[in-house]
Amino acid sequence: MRQFGFSISQTRSIDLDQVDFSRLDELKNIVPSFMVCMNCGACTATCSAQQFSDFNIRKIKTQYMQGQYDGLAKQLEKCMLCGKCTLVCPREVNLRNSIVNMRRILTKKNK
Ligand code: SF4
Ligand code: SF4
Repeated sequence: MRQFGFSISQTRSIDLDQVDFSRLDELKNIVPSFMVCMNCGACTATCSAQQFSDFNIRKIKTQYMQGQYDGLAKQLEKCMLCGKCTLVCPREVNLRNSIVNMRRILTKKNK
């Protein structure tokens, strides 16, 4: 089969009435700028960690906003907290601070 350099993602649906948004609520109280992201991807494009791994901060941020927390704590361990994502963000999302707090919130809830 011919390969085109990309693959089609599996479709998935989220029942928002069943989602627990408590962790998102906690984060947005600490880092309000987390909610103004426009999903441009500049953070991922410049990310130091994505050059060495499958780490994708935009995808992680989107999953967190959708209340899909499974596996995120493990993924966030790959971030080096260099802050480049925060410097390039056109919406001035404090992503570095968001990552620190996502790690804390996810770890706390998983205990
Ligand atoms: S650079 Fe900023 S606005 Fe763009 S996807 Fe990342 S967090 Fe969102
Ligand atoms: S702080 Fe983390 S997510 Fe942001 S650019 Fe650096 S390694 Fe990537």
